[in-house]
Amino acid sequence: MIRGHKALAAVLGAVILTASCSRAPEPRTRMEFLLGTACSVTLHDRASPDLLDRVFRRVKEIEDRMSATVEDGDIGRVNAGAGKRAVRVEEDTFAVVEAGLEFSRMSGGAFNVAVGPLVSLWGIGTEGARLPEKGEIAAAAARTDYQKVRLHREARTIFLEEPGMALDLGAIAKGYAADEAARLLREDGVTSAVIDFGGNIVALGSHPAGRLWRVGVQNPDLSRGQYLGVLEARDLAVVSSGVYERFFTGPDGKRYHHILDSKTGYPVENGLTGVTVTARDSMVADALSTTFFALGLPAGLELADRIDGVEALFITGGRELHATRGLRESFKVTDPSFRMAGE
Ligand code: ADP
Ligand code: MG
Repeated sequence: MIRGHKALAAVLGAVILTASCSRAPEPRTRMEFLLGTACSVTLHDRASPDLLDRVFRRVKEIEDRMSATVEDGDIGRVNAGAGKRAVRVEEDTFAVVEAGLEFSRMSGGAFNVAVGPLVSLWGIGTEGARLPEKGEIAAAAARTDYQKVRLHREARTIFLEEPGMALDLGAIAKGYAADEAARLLREDGVTSAVIDFGGNIVALGSHPAGRLWRVGVQNPDLSRGQYLGVLEARDLAVVSSGVYERFFTGPDGKRYHHILDSKTGYPVENGLTGVTVTARDSMVADALSTTFFALGLPAGLELADRIDGVEALFITGGRELHATRGLRESFKVTDPSFRMAGE
């Protein structure tokens, strides 16, 4: 079911391209299932199958290195070595883990790069998703101490000090991959393109008609592709995190989603249904969307206000919107059942 969702998302696309009479060439889109989601790249200023080949080869390489479920990949080997040995990894993996660790420290563990044991226990977004026993949850939560992740820069190794620990880059690797895709496109001279890796959007350059891109912000209460508002952007990464992305319904009828609080071991419950973040880099926006979601209101919004070049929109279950000042300027609510707090 979740796959169907993602496929639909890719077809609809989060970037709204209103039919226009511009003379821009037909966009060329390629979509593949990678990093556990539908990844699409649309070139708006030319056709270049070779370039798209290179982009998707790179994304596949990132998946092979950074997915926790690829056993012989970097993260798979680091996790298998937990409590036993330091494992040498590729430069890009090292950099993403290092960034993940920084976000973990910055947020006091709301974002937790070592959340792996809980992610695999709950299995949210997989066939094996289930509501675990309290004891299992406590045991897994006890193995998520990111301060026990040891990085050795010169040797480029990662060591998880306790057996049973595991890294999970699910909240940051898609963003990194989108940045890499954007880098390859820019290096090739592309000036108008949209990258959408499961809702991690990079609106590269400007719209083929020369105006700003219009990026739809998902309505967290509805299925993928239904928007509550629109952001106008040029050369910007836009990433959303929310309760709608991956979830299952427990035997108690409750919905359990995929952003976990490693202190309690349960999905974060703080009244938010979604957070959208804009930044120059998709990796930063990706990590921060998860961070802000986990921090909730008001802590998430306060942190967002303090970070330069980052804007954020917080969506509550009561359909109230809270936004950083900068975001208010580029964002328009299109679904009247949502309203901006304080307006
Ligand atoms: P999406 O996968 O929809 O882009 P996120 O970027 O918010 O959503 O990442 C959620 C994923 O991150 C989860 O599926 C899991 O792999 C991992 N994760 C879950 N909880 C946390 C957390 N507190 N900190 C860091 N990563 C997390
Ligand atoms: Mg994220």
